[in-house]
Amino acid sequence: MISTRYLEFETCSGDTRNITEDVQRAVSGSGITAGLATIFVPGATAAIITIEYEDGLAKDLWNALERLLPQEMEYLHNLRWQDGNGHSHLRASILGPSLTVPFDTHGLMLGTWQQIVFLELDNRSRKRKVIVQMIGE
Ligand code: ZN
Repeated sequence: MISTRYLEFETCSGDTRNITEDVQRAVSGSGITAGLATIFVPGATAAIITIEYEDGLAKDLWNALERLLPQEMEYLHNLRWQDGNGHSHLRASILGPSLTVPFDTHGLMLGTWQQIVFLELDNRSRKRKVIVQMIGE
């Protein structure tokens, strides 16, 4: 059996959004007892990751991204499109747009300190629609 749900929300640049409970609700409402949930953002400037969701670590993550792929650098993408989000695209490529998380009757099989988090990597506000597709029986 396959069930597909959507999480829709508006974001600001730099949002770090804990969507664990939204994904759990999608799984609970799917009628599927056990299987895999894929959480996927269709977009080239956002990412879905897992992390321990707490303020310090969230800042550490954004600081690390700034060290790895600084916003203020010359990117060919920016020279071509003048949209200033070359760093956003590269961060999104490296972090990835999706996760697959197994679930059973007890719910998502995440670690105790492991949350599912959406990152708005773009340099502007966006409307986002995240796909949660469950497959199982
Ligand atoms: Zn762009």
